[in-house]
Amino acid sequence: MSDKMAMDVLHSTQVVIEQALQRLGYQQDMIELLKEPIRVLTVRIPVRMDDGATRIFTGYRSQHNDAVGPTKGGVRFHPMVSENEVKALSIWMSLKCGIADLPYGGGKGGVICDPRTMSFRELERLSRGYVRAVSQIVGPNKDIPAPDVMTNSQIMAWMMDEYSRIREFDSPGFITGKPIVLGGSKGRETATARGVVIMIEEALRLRGIPVKGARIAIQGFGNAGSYLAKFMHEAGSCVVGISDVHGALYNKDGLDIEYLLDRRDSFGNVTNLFKQTMTNEELLELDCDVLVPAAIENQITGENASRIQASIIVEAANGPTTLEATRMLSDKGVLLIPDVLASAGGVIVSYFEWVQNNQGYYWSEQEVDDKLRLMMIRGFEHVYDIHRTRGVDMRLAAYMAGIRKLAEAVRFRGWV
Ligand code: GLU
Repeated sequence: MSDKMAMDVLHSTQVVIEQALQRLGYQQDMIELLKEPIRVLTVRIPVRMDDGATRIFTGYRSQHNDAVGPTKGGVRFHPMVSENEVKALSIWMSLKCGIADLPYGGGKGGVICDPRTMSFRELERLSRGYVRAVSQIVGPNKDIPAPDVMTNSQIMAWMMDEYSRIREFDSPGFITGKPIVLGGSKGRETATARGVVIMIEEALRLRGIPVKGARIAIQGFGNAGSYLAKFMHEAGSCVVGISDVHGALYNKDGLDIEYLLDRRDSFGNVTNLFKQTMTNEELLELDCDVLVPAAIENQITGENASRIQASIIVEAANGPTTLEATRMLSDKGVLLIPDVLASAGGVIVSYFEWVQNNQGYYWSEQEVDDKLRLMMIRGFEHVYDIHRTRGVDMRLAAYMAGIRKLAEAVRFRGWV
């Protein structure tokens, strides 16, 4: 995201936070506190590259608010990371944790880099350097990182190892999304997609469309998008379109998802291997039942919202729809399941991972999936209920559900 775009995204988030708190009856002082993160750290990370030269990377960690408990959220490695983006993302993490009723506030980190052009060892040195740089403000009871865009379980393993060395004791609860052998949770890798599937099922039920045969278009073939395609395909839905940074593939009778998953690389690239039948922009405007933006921010905007044909949009990515587009889609009667609800599966299972680490007792995949389903459905019912009874759109309803517990905790602590 460009700096200007990140500023707009942060501003839009603050506008909805303000509306949500006003609707809940809070005064200006609470709004002033919760509109901004309480702590943002910028770090410079020197990394020895394979050719012997040293490159200095810039990274961030933003903590929105820790009144409920430690802050929680991923770390992204991406060339367009910026301070404002990380700030907005940390606020969204507070909302996700609030909706799912987890004992956390929101946090988010990022490093400006392009992991696609870095070697395995360069990535290791960068991951360890990031942890050394932010170690003062993170920890199992302070702020718990996790994977996000272009970071994975290997990176979490290096980060956990570095943190454990600094603290001189094994600290699996410092970070989630780890490999299973290092205290990762069963079901974490698939959690975001599983959560999105549950939201799609609920939305289809409300609209009276059977899951079997429902036409789904998915933008993005990363962790969330690829597993989602797999699960929807297995459930008998017809995945008519998928895309990645290079372009999109389309088949009105359904794509061969197993084959595409098999050919996908670890960054989610696959369409470059085929004759692309569509652009990313066209994919969003496909004639389908459910559109799932599962890539990056600002994809559905005031410019293309009127051309969207799907009657259900489930946001698997963070921030894919602008506020203007949200308004236009709500006016058109599109059922929109907002990001802070739809993509909460990842952080919910991260919470399970942290609980298992703290207990030293590990659950079966079935147990994880069952508990995830319960929490997603409870979150959905809560948000949908606010939407109906308070007459607000689904995004504002989700913000109201997500911010209430945090505001209450702030009030009880006497901060405002
Ligand atoms: N990065 C994921 C998100 O945006 C997961 C965060 C976590 O597991 O803490 O929700």
